[in-house]
Amino acid sequence: MWRKLCLATAVVLALVAAPNADAGQDTHRETIHLKVSVFNDAQVPLSVLREAEARTQSVLDEAGITLTWLDCGTPGKWHTELGCRDISFPTHLSVRLVAAKKAVSEDTFGQSYLNEQGEGNYANVYVATLSSAKALDVIREGDLLGYVVVHELGHLLLGIGSHSAEGLMRAKWGVSELREAARGNLLFSKIEAERMRARYLSAAARGVGGDSSKLRISGK
Ligand SMILES: [Zn+2]
Repeated sequence: MWRKLCLATAVVLALVAAPNADAGQDTHRETIHLKVSVFNDAQVPLSVLREAEARTQSVLDEAGITLTWLDCGTPGKWHTELGCRDISFPTHLSVRLVAAKKAVSEDTFGQSYLNEQGEGNYANVYVATLSSAKALDVIREGDLLGYVVVHELGHLLLGIGSHSAEGLMRAKWGVSELREAARGNLLFSKIEAERMRARYLSAAARGVGGDSSKLRISGK
């Protein structure tokens, strides 16, 4: 088994089968535009970042979501002119590329943060863990970074209990997931894509906004 992408919790697993409150909503005709601020604390090289962006874009494209990736800079060189801080669920999310491993296990690549309603607008990706992962025997670093970013965006868009038994949203990526990833075939399922679109449209219609208070760690 390769390093885990993230750790499932009993709470998360218990909620996997929660009914989709948005089921039945016709979301096919709406274009979903997602903006993501990427704060490059880890100073990931631009070439790797571009690969990650392309991979994130391609996976979201398949799910019917158009991505605008904002390069928000590195420590001391933040790009304040791009609106990087104008974060608001569900239209504008954020990902911080963290250099230090901090308080996460050595096999955790990322974490996302959700409020009591299962909505959140920021996630961390732990670049030091990812950069030393055995998975890099199978997949390029930029691709892996992109898949981890899009996995965490999946948590933010899908809500609580968004791990799946297999595929992109599996809690632990095994050899089969990584091989599919290396081929560019690790994608959201149709059900996940539809759920993301439905939740996005529902939240956007309510004008949810960007309050990140009372956040708790959810999907990792
Ligand atoms: Zn996860």
